[in-house]
Amino acid sequence: MNGRKQQQNFMRKAISVHEATRLVLESVHVMPTEEVPILQCIGRTLAVELVAPQPMPHFRRSGMDGFAVMSEDTKQATIGTPISLQIIDHVPAGMVSEKRLSSGQCIRIMTGASVPDGADAVIKYEMTEEDISPDGTEMCKVKGSVVVGENVSPIGVEIAANETVLRSGVRIGAGEVALLAMFGIHSVQVYKQPRIAIVATGAELLRVEDALEPGRIRNSNAYMLAAAITEFGGIPIVLDRVPDDARIAKQVILEALHDHDVVVTTGGVSVGDHDILYDVTQDWDGDLLFNKVMMRPGSPTTFGRWQGKPLFALSGNPAACYVGCRLFLRPALRGMMGADLVPEPRVMATLTVDYVKSDRFTRFVRGVMTEQEGKLTAAPVGYDMSSVTVSLRDANCLICLPGSPKGYAAGSFVELIPLKGFY
Ligand code: AMP
Ligand code: MG
Repeated sequence: MNGRKQQQNFMRKAISVHEATRLVLESVHVMPTEEVPILQCIGRTLAVELVAPQPMPHFRRSGMDGFAVMSEDTKQATIGTPISLQIIDHVPAGMVSEKRLSSGQCIRIMTGASVPDGADAVIKYEMTEEDISPDGTEMCKVKGSVVVGENVSPIGVEIAANETVLRSGVRIGAGEVALLAMFGIHSVQVYKQPRIAIVATGAELLRVEDALEPGRIRNSNAYMLAAAITEFGGIPIVLDRVPDDARIAKQVILEALHDHDVVVTTGGVSVGDHDILYDVTQDWDGDLLFNKVMMRPGSPTTFGRWQGKPLFALSGNPAACYVGCRLFLRPALRGMMGADLVPEPRVMATLTVDYVKSDRFTRFVRGVMTEQEGKLTAAPVGYDMSSVTVSLRDANCLICLPGSPKGYAAGSFVELIPLKGFY
C-alpha cells in the first residue's frame, strides 16, 4: 500500500454499531419465494400469510372420555343421589353419532369425538357408573352435575374461520408445522435461502486438508462462517482462499458477487501492509457503506454493495470475524429470508465481575450467561483477545458493553446477545 492510501486508510470514519446495522438492514433485498414439501420447510421463513380456511376445531369436540349429556338433566345429581340416564349410542374419536340426544338420555363418548346434537356437556367416566336396568336397557348413573359447555371445546375456540394463523415472515418451527399440517398445507411457500460465498484472504492460510507448515494456519474462519450461515438458515459456499493481492482478490470477490446472493470475506480489512480489502472497496464499481465501526473486536469491519448484493468484509481475527458475522450478517440473512429487519435480539443480565477494559467503542465480550433462580447473570469467558478462537467454544453469549470511561462494575445491568440454543 502506498503512503497516500495508508493515510486514507487511517482516516476511516468510524460509525456506531447502531448506524452500521441500520445501513446493513437498509441494503437488504428479500429473496424470491419457492414451494417446498412440508417436511422441508422447517427452519425456513413462511412467504405467505396462512388464513384459517375453517374453524379449529371444526366440530364440537369432547375433552374427556365419558358421557355426552344435557347438563340440565344432571343438575340434582350427587354421589348419594345419582340420576340414571339411558345410554343410546357410543361415539369413539373419528365417528359421528347419528342420534340426537333427548332429556333422560346420554351417549358414551371418547376424547376427541364429536359431541352429538342435543348434548351440551360431557361428564367424565369417573363421575359415572354403568348399569343394566331390569328390562335390559343400558343405563348410566351420573353421580355429579356438569354445567353447560363443560368438557366440550366449541367450534372455532382455538382459531376462528378466516383468522390469521401464521403471518408471512415467521420462522417455521414445530408449532408452525403443526398448524400447517392441521390446515392441510402440505406444500409450503417459503423464501429461498440465500447462497453466500465465503472468501478468506491471507497468504498464511492453509486448506483444512493440508498438513501444518511453520508459520501457517488453517483457514478456520471460512468453516466457522459456513457453520454460522447454516445455523442462520443460509447456504454457505466456501471458495478457495485468496492471496494478499488486491487485484486477484477483487476479481474473485466480483465473480463471487456475480454468482451468489451475498459475499463474506475474512481477513485483510485492517491497516496492515497486506490488508487489501480497503483497496478492493476503494477502486470498484460498488458502494462502500462503511469500513470502520465503533466496536471491539472488529472495528475495521467493512460493508459494501455491488449491484444490489451485499459484501461483508469481516476481520481475519477469529473472534472479530464471529462478532461481525453475528451483528451484521445474521440480521441481514434473516431479513433476506423475509423476517423482520431488526438487529440481533438482546436480553438483560447482571454482570458478576468487574470489566475494566474500556474506551469509546462498544465491546462485545465473549461471555458465559447462567440462569439462577430466574435471573440471568453473565461473566466474560476470559482470554478474550480478538485473535482467540477457543473462547468461541466456551462462550454462549456476547456481553454488550457500550463505550464508557470507567468500564463496568460487578452488579451492572448489561445487555447480552445469546449465541447458542436461542434460535
Ligand atoms: P487479518 O485481518 O488478515 O490481518 O488477520 C488477522 C489475524 O487473523 C491474523 O493472525 C490471521 O492469521 C488470522 N486469520 C486471518 N484469516 C484467517 C482465517 N481465515 N482463519 C483463521 N485465522 C485467520
Ligand atoms: Mg491477512
